[in-house]
Amino acid sequence: MQNISLYFTAKKCHSCGNTRLGNGEGSFKITEEGFTRNCKCGASIQTCFAENRNQ
Ligand SMILES: [Zn+2]
Repeated sequence: MQNISLYFTAKKCHSCGNTRLGNGEGSFKITEEGFTRNCKCGASIQTCFAENRNQ
């Protein structure tokens, strides 16, 4: 799980630039297609396992 967290948190928030999670910084969930991260600023960042899929 730690590797997944590191991979995921490396994705900057497009709104505020925050890269951190936890301790009130935000949260994320793992779905079948990838990750959905909810930043503390209210923005939502999605990271897909297969990056070509939704682009
Ligand atoms: Zn943010």
